[in-house]
Amino acid sequence: MPPEGMAARRASVLIPLALFTAYDYAIPDDLPVEPGDFVSVPLGRRMVNGVVWGEGDENVDAAKLKSIAARLDLSPLPEISRRFIDWVAAYSMAPLGSVLRMAMSVPEALEPARAVKAWTIGDPALGKPTAVRARVLAALEEGPPLGTADLARTAACTPGVVAEMARLGMLRAVSLPPPQPFGKPDPTRAGPNLSDAQRRAVDALTLREPGVTLLNGVTGSGKTEVYFEAIAACLRAGKQALVLLPEIALSAQWLGRFEERFGAPPAQWHSELTQAERRLNWRSVLDGKAMVVVGARSALFLPYAELGLIVVDEEHESAFKQEDGVIYQARDMAVVRGHLAKIPVVLASATPSLESIVNAEQGRYRALHLPDRHGAAQLPEVKLVDLRRDRPERGQWLSPSLHRAVTETLADEGQALLFLNRRGYAPLTLCRDCGNRLQCPSCTAWLVEHRYSARLQCHHCGYQTAMPQSCPACGHAGTFAACGPGVERLAEEAERLFPTARRLIITSDTVGGPKKTAEMIRMVAEREVDLIIGTQIIAKGHHFPHLTLVGVVDADLGLSGGDLRAAERTYQLLHQVAGRAGRAERPGRVLIQTYDPDRAVIQALKDHDQARFLKIEEEDRQRAGMPPFGRLAAIIVSGRDEAAVEAQVKRMAAAVPRAEQNEGRIAVLGPAPAPLAMLRGRHRRRFLVKCRRDVAPQPFVRAWLKGLKWPGDLRLQIDIDPYSFL
Ligand code: ADP
Ligand code: ZN
Repeated sequence: MPPEGMAARRASVLIPLALFTAYDYAIPDDLPVEPGDFVSVPLGRRMVNGVVWGEGDENVDAAKLKSIAARLDLSPLPEISRRFIDWVAAYSMAPLGSVLRMAMSVPEALEPARAVKAWTIGDPALGKPTAVRARVLAALEEGPPLGTADLARTAACTPGVVAEMARLGMLRAVSLPPPQPFGKPDPTRAGPNLSDAQRRAVDALTLREPGVTLLNGVTGSGKTEVYFEAIAACLRAGKQALVLLPEIALSAQWLGRFEERFGAPPAQWHSELTQAERRLNWRSVLDGKAMVVVGARSALFLPYAELGLIVVDEEHESAFKQEDGVIYQARDMAVVRGHLAKIPVVLASATPSLESIVNAEQGRYRALHLPDRHGAAQLPEVKLVDLRRDRPERGQWLSPSLHRAVTETLADEGQALLFLNRRGYAPLTLCRDCGNRLQCPSCTAWLVEHRYSARLQCHHCGYQTAMPQSCPACGHAGTFAACGPGVERLAEEAERLFPTARRLIITSDTVGGPKKTAEMIRMVAEREVDLIIGTQIIAKGHHFPHLTLVGVVDADLGLSGGDLRAAERTYQLLHQVAGRAGRAERPGRVLIQTYDPDRAVIQALKDHDQARFLKIEEEDRQRAGMPPFGRLAAIIVSGRDEAAVEAQVKRMAAAVPRAEQNEGRIAVLGPAPAPLAMLRGRHRRRFLVKCRRDVAPQPFVRAWLKGLKWPGDLRLQIDIDPYSFL
């Protein structure tokens, strides 16, 4: 028996590794710790950093217990953060330690600050020139000195390359001053004079108690200005505010507006930050010095000292869903985070998700509506082009009407955008002689030709190869035929049809880093180009005052395939694209090319009738018991050995608990080969667990999979509330 009081002398410590529980450690007498403290503990032969999660378990043999080695000198992880991590782990069925790892994503931030060593260009002549080394030098030519990790990432090389170049003297070491802490956003600065509708929305937002508000207003209706006021109110109360944006790299315009409004930039959180910036920002969030954070979904897991508001802008975006590691929907988790902290959450969108619409209808969220565009801007006129009658020439993609509209727009000194949401030159390349289709060696997917880079790419696994000279199947040369359009092919057509227009192609392949993206956006906004050809990267958020024509080249593109949200996403995307037109004084128009003009989603786009479309969509989902009227969980099993995967899913199918199924509360569909039956060389089978809305899938899945062994390289992935059905 341990002596009295012994239990209180132990603590459970959660370590940011893929572990489902915290481990017990003894608390040394001279080292008092509290829950939330960051500590260093022995794990096997190493020392690791973790967080004191709670009291220890008395049942662990005291003799076996190791001691906490040190308490780290920084503020503890706040209680709300810890409860949030517990909640997310339980909901997503991910290891608790993996969720903590998202909150401790900057390991260096736990250590005292030290001088940062960085590299600048030394004497390039001291080493042999290679393509990789040229990239490293180019990265340094364009920007400031970078540390090894940042430089390797920017130049897409290994840290070893950097080290070798340094050894040779091609690079020279310099010491970087610590990054400048950001100024304080000032909530007392005056914003614009708000319209009545904006005023009412602001009053509702800033007077209300905690809860979720859906801020629904057409593009350009002034939602951003409205939530800026909510941020100002939060800052006046001395609390931190978080704004989640789907594509932070594209938000130079947003940052500019924020700084103009508040006199200082916000702290940013996204993958493009340098190590030093990450460290500073993480620490400043924990210390309560960073008052406004704008970031991608992972910003939700930062250790806020005292968060007072969360805004999720473009809340309908599927980019908020994290699809690997800990799988979670950041918008939904933001609502949870807000609920735990009893703070307001604002979801903003011109095309809210059906989930949020139904939550508002059923009274779980408040709805605020901004019906009109700000100022003189009018909604663009939308016309459908029926491709069955208004046919493009063979091998071309612009119908005569769209061709004419672009010609007129250019003649009228307007600016036009041709939108096609497909990267590369052509989605499929086949051999005219033998019919062979060029396929990814490790996925069930065609290779996409990228003509600018003269390569074939798999858009699922990133596999790349040079375009072959001859068909790998029959060996014949010059027999490849490109099937279907990508933006690069469309650009070729545009060059032929509009040779004198200043053209700009904007896709993730041409934009490069955030700086180049911002530059392209600026060129469009300041009318340095006449004709833009782009993918969805151009669709979102930007304000293009000169754009008067948007041509949607293929509205049917996203509608095929069995995706639950295909129509909803198509509506959101095309509505967003259409909304780029006519945002200033000049009216805009939109031409939508389709083979299926009678589809509800296409009709709704034409009539700007979002409500009717949503009603139809809602009824369909309700009838099928699909989200948001039911719940889904996807269970994906994968492995390199197809027979082993098959055997495993057979065992799983036999083990499905029957009781809930019999009561009609839960149905398990599958196993079936996933649409991407092979991904990165792994065979994939999936089950879909479908529950009534009032039934949680997690306990069922837990009971089902309990005790199941995962031999060899078999892997299990659980995706609660799936958004991707590939
Ligand atoms: P949304 O976020 O709904 O797309 P924004 O907030 O970006 O709309 O507003 C669209 C445009 O109108 C922006 O250029 C913005 O600066 C301007 N704007 C919005 N509200 C006002 C206002 N009250 N006074 C002046 N300009 C405004
Ligand atoms: Zn692939």
